[in-house]
Amino acid sequence: MNTLRSASLCLLTGLLVTATAAAAASAKPAVVIVATGGTIAGAAKSQTEAGYQAGAVAVDVLIDAVPQLKELADIRGVQVASIGSQDMNDEVWIKLANTLNELVSTKKVDGVVVTHGTDTMEETAYFLHLVVDTDKPVVLTGSMRPSTAMSADGPLNIYNAVALAADPRARGRGVLVAVNDDIHSAHDLTKTHTTDVETFTSHEPGLVGASLFGKQHFYRSPAEVHTSKSDFAGKIAGPLPRVDVIYAHAGMSPDLVDAAVAAGAKGLVIAGVGDGNMTTPALDAVKRAISAGVVVVRSSRVGSGIIRRDVEINDDAVGTVASMTLNPSKARVLLKLALTKTHDAKKIQAYFDGY
Ligand code: ASP
Repeated sequence: MNTLRSASLCLLTGLLVTATAAAAASAKPAVVIVATGGTIAGAAKSQTEAGYQAGAVAVDVLIDAVPQLKELADIRGVQVASIGSQDMNDEVWIKLANTLNELVSTKKVDGVVVTHGTDTMEETAYFLHLVVDTDKPVVLTGSMRPSTAMSADGPLNIYNAVALAADPRARGRGVLVAVNDDIHSAHDLTKTHTTDVETFTSHEPGLVGASLFGKQHFYRSPAEVHTSKSDFAGKIAGPLPRVDVIYAHAGMSPDLVDAAVAAGAKGLVIAGVGDGNMTTPALDAVKRAISAGVVVVRSSRVGSGIIRRDVEINDDAVGTVASMTLNPSKARVLLKLALTKTHDAKKIQAYFDGY
Protein backbone atom coordinates (compact mmCIF):
# COMPACT_ATOMS: atom_id res chain seq x y z
CA MET A 1 0.00 0.00 0.00
CA ASN A 2 2.78 2.39 1.08
CA THR A 3 4.77 1.51 -2.02
CA LEU A 4 1.73 2.24 -4.19
CA ARG A 5 1.15 5.60 -2.47
CA SER A 6 4.76 6.71 -2.85
CA ALA A 7 4.75 5.60 -6.49
CA SER A 8 1.63 7.74 -7.19
CA LEU A 9 3.21 10.67 -5.32
CA CYS A 10 6.32 10.39 -7.48
CA LEU A 11 4.19 10.31 -10.62
CA LEU A 12 2.20 13.37 -9.49
CA THR A 13 5.36 15.31 -8.63
CA GLY A 14 6.85 14.32 -12.00
CA LEU A 15 3.74 15.53 -13.81
CA LEU A 16 3.78 18.82 -11.89
CA VAL A 17 7.46 19.43 -12.67
CA THR A 18 6.86 18.69 -16.36
CA ALA A 19 3.80 20.96 -16.46
CA THR A 20 5.68 23.83 -14.78
CA ALA A 21 8.64 23.41 -17.15
CA ALA A 22 6.29 23.37 -20.15
CA ALA A 23 4.51 26.51 -18.91
CA ALA A 24 7.87 28.23 -18.39
CA ALA A 25 9.03 27.19 -21.86
CA SER A 26 5.85 28.52 -23.50
CA ALA A 27 5.79 31.77 -21.43
CA LYS A 28 6.02 34.65 -23.86
CA PRO A 29 8.31 37.63 -23.27
CA ALA A 30 6.54 40.70 -21.88
CA VAL A 31 6.82 43.75 -24.16
CA VAL A 32 5.38 47.16 -23.37
CA ILE A 33 4.49 49.49 -26.26
CA VAL A 34 4.96 53.12 -25.25
CA ALA A 35 3.22 55.46 -27.69
CA THR A 36 4.13 59.08 -28.36
CA GLY A 37 2.15 59.79 -31.57
CA GLY A 38 3.62 60.33 -35.03
CA THR A 39 2.44 59.23 -38.45
CA ILE A 40 2.27 55.61 -37.30
CA ALA A 41 -0.69 56.81 -35.22
CA GLY A 42 -1.85 59.20 -37.95
CA ALA A 43 -5.27 59.25 -39.59
CA ALA A 44 -6.36 60.64 -42.96
CA LYS A 45 -9.80 61.14 -44.51
CA SER A 46 -9.24 58.39 -47.08
CA GLN A 47 -6.75 55.66 -48.02
CA THR A 48 -5.19 57.88 -50.71
CA GLU A 49 -5.30 61.29 -49.01
CA ALA A 50 -1.78 62.79 -48.61
CA GLY A 51 -2.79 65.15 -45.79
CA TYR A 52 -3.31 63.61 -42.33
CA GLN A 53 -3.23 64.29 -38.62
CA ALA A 54 -0.27 62.74 -36.77
CA GLY A 55 -0.87 61.09 -33.38
CA ALA A 56 -4.68 60.77 -33.81
CA VAL A 57 -4.87 57.04 -32.98
CA ALA A 58 -4.44 55.71 -29.42
CA VAL A 59 -1.99 52.95 -28.48
CA ASP A 60 -4.69 50.30 -27.88
CA VAL A 61 -6.04 50.85 -31.39
CA LEU A 62 -2.50 50.44 -32.79
CA ILE A 63 -2.09 47.18 -30.85
CA ASP A 64 -5.53 45.83 -31.85
CA ALA A 65 -4.76 46.58 -35.52
CA VAL A 66 -1.96 43.97 -35.45
CA PRO A 67 -3.40 40.93 -33.62
CA GLN A 68 -0.29 38.89 -34.57
CA LEU A 69 1.69 40.89 -31.96
CA LYS A 70 0.13 38.66 -29.29
CA GLU A 71 1.80 35.61 -30.88
CA LEU A 72 5.20 37.25 -30.30
CA ALA A 73 4.80 38.57 -26.77
CA ASP A 74 2.48 39.51 -23.94
CA ILE A 75 1.70 43.07 -24.94
CA ARG A 76 0.48 46.07 -23.02
CA GLY A 77 0.29 49.72 -24.11
CA VAL A 78 1.19 52.98 -22.36
CA GLN A 79 0.38 56.39 -23.89
CA VAL A 80 3.00 59.01 -22.99
CA ALA A 81 2.09 61.65 -25.63
CA SER A 82 0.02 62.05 -28.82
CA ILE A 83 2.09 64.46 -30.87
CA GLY A 84 3.70 64.81 -34.25
CA SER A 85 7.39 64.42 -33.45
CA GLN A 86 8.07 67.91 -34.85
CA ASP A 87 6.63 68.99 -31.45
CA MET A 88 8.95 66.75 -29.43
CA ASN A 89 10.62 68.69 -26.60
CA ASP A 90 12.62 68.32 -23.38
CA GLU A 91 9.52 67.83 -21.21
CA VAL A 92 8.23 64.88 -23.26
CA TRP A 93 11.77 63.43 -23.49
CA ILE A 94 12.10 63.52 -19.70
CA LYS A 95 8.63 61.98 -19.18
CA LEU A 96 9.41 59.29 -21.76
CA ALA A 97 12.85 58.51 -20.35
CA ASN A 98 11.56 58.27 -16.79
CA THR A 99 8.66 56.02 -17.93
CA LEU A 100 11.12 53.72 -19.72
CA ASN A 101 13.52 53.66 -16.79
CA GLU A 102 10.66 52.62 -14.51
CA LEU A 103 9.40 49.93 -16.92
CA VAL A 104 12.80 48.31 -17.52
CA SER A 105 13.56 48.24 -13.80
CA THR A 106 10.85 45.60 -13.18
CA LYS A 107 11.34 41.88 -13.80
CA LYS A 108 7.89 41.82 -15.43
CA VAL A 109 9.17 43.66 -18.53
CA ASP A 110 11.53 42.00 -21.02
CA GLY A 111 11.61 44.73 -23.66
CA VAL A 112 10.05 48.03 -24.68
CA VAL A 113 8.87 49.41 -28.03
CA VAL A 114 8.39 53.16 -28.46
CA THR A 115 6.16 54.34 -31.32
CA HIS A 116 7.30 57.76 -32.53
CA GLY A 117 7.13 60.15 -35.46
CA THR A 118 9.97 59.90 -37.93
CA ASP A 119 10.88 63.62 -38.05
CA THR A 120 12.80 63.63 -34.76
CA MET A 121 13.07 59.85 -34.26
CA GLU A 122 16.88 60.05 -34.48
CA GLU A 123 17.06 62.60 -31.68
CA THR A 124 14.70 60.80 -29.30
CA ALA A 125 16.35 57.44 -30.02
CA TYR A 126 19.80 58.89 -29.25
CA PHE A 127 18.51 60.66 -26.12
CA LEU A 128 17.10 57.35 -24.82
CA HIS A 129 20.33 55.55 -25.85
CA LEU A 130 22.13 57.86 -23.39
CA VAL A 131 19.66 57.92 -20.48
CA VAL A 132 17.87 54.57 -20.22
CA ASP A 133 19.61 52.47 -17.59
CA THR A 134 19.20 48.96 -18.96
CA ASP A 135 20.59 46.17 -21.12
CA LYS A 136 17.06 45.10 -22.10
CA PRO A 137 15.98 45.79 -25.68
CA VAL A 138 14.48 49.24 -26.24
CA VAL A 139 13.25 49.64 -29.82
CA LEU A 140 11.76 52.67 -31.54
CA THR A 141 9.54 52.40 -34.57
CA GLY A 142 7.38 54.67 -36.69
CA SER A 143 6.02 54.91 -40.18
CA MET A 144 6.02 57.19 -43.17
CA ARG A 145 2.39 56.53 -44.09
CA PRO A 146 -0.54 57.10 -41.72
CA SER A 147 -2.35 54.10 -40.24
CA THR A 148 -5.32 54.68 -42.57
CA ALA A 149 -3.25 54.81 -45.80
CA MET A 150 -3.17 52.33 -48.66
CA SER A 151 -0.06 50.13 -48.05
CA ALA A 152 0.49 51.59 -44.58
CA ASP A 153 4.00 50.69 -43.39
CA GLY A 154 3.19 50.93 -39.66
CA PRO A 155 1.77 47.42 -38.99
CA LEU A 156 4.83 45.47 -40.21
CA ASN A 157 7.19 48.00 -38.59
CA ILE A 158 5.46 47.54 -35.23
CA TYR A 159 5.45 43.73 -35.70
CA ASN A 160 9.20 43.72 -36.39
CA ALA A 161 9.84 46.11 -33.50
CA VAL A 162 7.99 43.87 -31.03
CA ALA A 163 9.80 40.78 -32.32
CA LEU A 164 13.11 42.61 -31.84
CA ALA A 165 12.19 43.83 -28.34
CA ALA A 166 11.27 40.23 -27.43
CA ASP A 167 14.56 38.84 -28.76
CA PRO A 168 17.20 38.22 -26.03
CA ARG A 169 19.91 38.64 -28.71
CA ALA A 170 18.97 42.36 -28.88
CA ARG A 171 20.07 42.85 -25.25
CA GLY A 172 23.09 45.09 -24.68
CA ARG A 173 23.00 46.65 -28.16
CA GLY A 174 21.62 49.97 -26.91
CA VAL A 175 18.49 51.65 -28.24
CA LEU A 176 17.57 50.30 -31.67
CA VAL A 177 15.23 51.54 -34.38
CA ALA A 178 13.26 48.98 -36.42
CA VAL A 179 11.85 50.43 -39.65
CA ASN A 180 11.41 49.17 -43.21
CA ASP A 181 12.95 45.76 -42.36
CA ASP A 182 16.16 47.50 -41.17
CA ILE A 183 17.58 47.58 -37.64
CA HIS A 184 19.55 50.75 -36.87
CA SER A 185 21.53 51.91 -33.85
CA ALA A 186 20.15 55.08 -32.26
CA HIS A 187 23.67 56.46 -32.59
CA ASP A 188 23.79 56.20 -36.36
CA LEU A 189 20.41 56.46 -38.04
CA THR A 190 19.28 59.62 -39.75
CA LYS A 191 16.22 60.57 -41.78
CA THR A 192 17.19 61.18 -45.41
CA HIS A 193 13.96 61.49 -47.40
CA THR A 194 10.87 63.65 -46.85
CA THR A 195 8.27 61.04 -47.89
CA ASP A 196 9.81 57.71 -48.98
CA VAL A 197 9.17 54.60 -46.89
CA GLU A 198 12.92 53.95 -47.15
CA THR A 199 13.92 57.16 -45.39
CA PHE A 200 16.35 56.04 -42.66
CA THR A 201 19.99 55.28 -43.27
CA SER A 202 22.99 54.60 -41.04
CA HIS A 203 25.68 55.74 -43.51
CA GLU A 204 29.23 54.41 -42.87
CA PRO A 205 28.59 52.57 -39.57
CA GLY A 206 25.83 50.57 -41.26
CA LEU A 207 22.88 48.58 -39.97
CA VAL A 208 22.88 46.64 -36.70
CA GLY A 209 20.70 44.00 -38.32
CA ALA A 210 17.79 43.17 -40.58
CA SER A 211 14.25 41.92 -39.96
CA LEU A 212 12.00 39.75 -42.07
CA PHE A 213 8.47 39.20 -40.76
CA GLY A 214 9.58 39.08 -37.14
CA LYS A 215 12.84 37.15 -37.62
CA GLN A 216 16.03 39.09 -36.87
CA HIS A 217 19.53 38.74 -38.22
CA PHE A 218 22.26 40.71 -36.43
CA TYR A 219 25.35 42.13 -38.14
CA ARG A 220 27.04 44.05 -35.34
CA SER A 221 26.85 45.75 -31.92
CA PRO A 222 27.33 49.52 -31.59
CA ALA A 223 30.82 50.35 -30.32
CA GLU A 224 30.03 53.58 -28.45
CA VAL A 225 29.08 54.00 -24.76
CA HIS A 226 25.32 53.74 -24.20
CA THR A 227 22.40 52.79 -21.88
CA SER A 228 23.57 51.03 -18.69
CA LYS A 229 27.21 52.15 -19.23
CA SER A 230 26.34 55.81 -19.93
CA ASP A 231 27.19 58.57 -17.42
CA PHE A 232 23.68 59.96 -18.05
CA ALA A 233 21.75 56.73 -17.35
CA GLY A 234 18.97 56.92 -14.76
CA LYS A 235 16.18 59.19 -13.59
CA ILE A 236 16.28 62.70 -15.04
CA ALA A 237 14.99 65.69 -13.13
CA GLY A 238 15.37 68.44 -15.76
CA PRO A 239 15.16 71.14 -16.91
CA LEU A 240 17.86 70.56 -19.53
CA PRO A 241 20.10 73.44 -20.64
CA ARG A 242 19.21 75.31 -23.83
CA VAL A 243 21.32 74.31 -26.83
CA ASP A 244 20.68 75.81 -30.28
CA VAL A 245 21.76 74.52 -33.68
CA ILE A 246 22.90 77.15 -36.22
CA TYR A 247 23.10 76.24 -39.90
CA ALA A 248 26.20 77.50 -41.73
CA HIS A 249 26.15 78.62 -45.37
CA ALA A 250 28.03 80.78 -47.85
CA GLY A 251 28.08 84.33 -46.53
CA MET A 252 27.08 83.24 -42.97
CA SER A 253 26.80 86.32 -40.74
CA PRO A 254 27.75 86.34 -37.05
CA ASP A 255 24.28 87.58 -36.09
CA LEU A 256 22.53 84.29 -35.27
CA VAL A 257 25.43 83.13 -33.08
CA ASP A 258 25.32 86.40 -31.12
CA ALA A 259 21.50 86.23 -30.96
CA ALA A 260 21.50 82.68 -29.58
CA VAL A 261 23.92 83.69 -26.82
CA ALA A 262 21.82 86.77 -26.02
CA ALA A 263 18.70 84.54 -25.87
CA GLY A 264 20.31 82.41 -23.15
CA ALA A 265 21.78 79.39 -24.97
CA LYS A 266 24.28 77.53 -22.78
CA GLY A 267 25.54 75.54 -25.74
CA LEU A 268 25.66 75.93 -29.52
CA VAL A 269 26.06 73.41 -32.30
CA ILE A 270 27.23 74.80 -35.61
CA ALA A 271 25.94 72.69 -38.53
CA GLY A 272 29.07 73.72 -40.40
CA VAL A 273 29.85 73.58 -44.08
CA GLY A 274 32.11 70.67 -45.09
CA ASP A 275 34.27 69.49 -42.22
CA GLY A 276 32.51 71.73 -39.67
CA ASN A 277 33.65 75.06 -41.11
CA MET A 278 32.07 78.52 -41.09
CA THR A 279 32.87 82.06 -42.29
CA THR A 280 35.53 84.09 -40.46
CA PRO A 281 32.92 86.54 -39.02
CA ALA A 282 30.86 83.58 -37.72
CA LEU A 283 34.00 82.03 -36.19
CA ASP A 284 34.71 85.36 -34.46
CA ALA A 285 31.19 85.25 -33.00
CA VAL A 286 31.86 81.67 -31.84
CA LYS A 287 35.02 82.92 -30.04
CA ARG A 288 32.91 85.63 -28.34
CA ALA A 289 30.36 82.99 -27.30
CA ILE A 290 33.10 80.79 -25.80
CA SER A 291 34.51 83.77 -23.87
CA ALA A 292 30.99 84.28 -22.47
CA GLY A 293 31.00 80.67 -21.13
CA VAL A 294 28.96 79.02 -23.91
CA VAL A 295 30.19 75.61 -25.13
CA VAL A 296 30.33 75.43 -28.93
CA VAL A 297 30.40 72.16 -30.88
CA ARG A 298 31.36 72.02 -34.55
CA SER A 299 29.29 69.49 -36.50
CA SER A 300 28.52 69.39 -40.22
CA ARG A 301 25.54 69.91 -42.47
CA VAL A 302 27.03 67.36 -44.93
CA GLY A 303 25.24 64.37 -43.38
CA SER A 304 28.04 61.81 -43.13
CA GLY A 305 31.71 61.56 -42.17
CA ILE A 306 33.66 62.46 -39.03
CA ILE A 307 34.35 66.00 -37.79
CA ARG A 308 37.77 65.65 -36.14
CA ARG A 309 39.64 68.24 -34.04
CA ASP A 310 42.14 70.71 -35.47
CA VAL A 311 41.75 70.14 -39.20
CA GLU A 312 40.83 73.48 -40.84
CA ILE A 313 39.74 75.11 -37.58
CA ASN A 314 42.20 74.85 -34.68
CA ASP A 315 39.88 73.71 -31.88
CA ASP A 316 42.75 73.81 -29.37
CA ALA A 317 43.21 77.54 -30.03
CA VAL A 318 39.51 78.47 -30.46
CA GLY A 319 38.14 76.31 -27.62
CA THR A 320 35.53 74.48 -29.74
CA VAL A 321 34.50 70.83 -29.44
CA ALA A 322 34.51 68.56 -32.52
CA SER A 323 31.35 66.48 -32.89
CA MET A 324 33.17 63.41 -34.33
CA THR A 325 30.49 61.06 -35.75
CA LEU A 326 27.44 62.96 -34.49
CA ASN A 327 25.29 64.99 -36.85
CA PRO A 328 24.02 68.39 -35.62
CA SER A 329 20.73 67.15 -34.13
CA LYS A 330 22.43 64.36 -32.17
CA ALA A 331 25.35 66.61 -31.17
CA ARG A 332 22.70 68.88 -29.64
CA VAL A 333 21.31 65.96 -27.57
CA LEU A 334 24.74 64.95 -26.24
CA LEU A 335 25.72 68.57 -25.53
CA LYS A 336 22.51 69.16 -23.54
CA LEU A 337 23.24 66.11 -21.38
CA ALA A 338 26.98 66.83 -21.10
CA LEU A 339 26.21 70.37 -19.87
CA THR A 340 24.32 68.85 -16.92
CA LYS A 341 27.70 67.42 -15.79
CA THR A 342 30.34 69.97 -16.82
CA HIS A 343 31.07 73.15 -18.81
CA ASP A 344 34.68 72.14 -19.46
CA ALA A 345 35.17 71.86 -23.24
CA LYS A 346 37.91 69.20 -22.85
CA LYS A 347 35.67 66.95 -20.74
CA ILE A 348 32.81 67.52 -23.19
CA GLN A 349 35.15 66.55 -26.04
CA ALA A 350 35.77 63.26 -24.20
CA TYR A 351 32.01 62.58 -24.29
CA PHE A 352 31.96 63.27 -28.05
CA ASP A 353 34.94 60.93 -28.49
CA GLY A 354 33.30 58.02 -26.66
CA TYR A 355 29.53 58.40 -26.98
N1 ASP B 1 5.64 64.61 -38.92
C1 ASP B 1 5.54 63.21 -38.59
C2 ASP B 1 6.18 63.01 -37.23
O1 ASP B 1 7.36 63.04 -37.11
C3 ASP B 1 6.19 62.38 -39.62
C4 ASP B 1 6.22 60.89 -39.35
O2 ASP B 1 5.94 60.40 -38.28
O3 ASP B 1 6.59 60.16 -40.29
O4 ASP B 1 5.48 62.81 -36.29
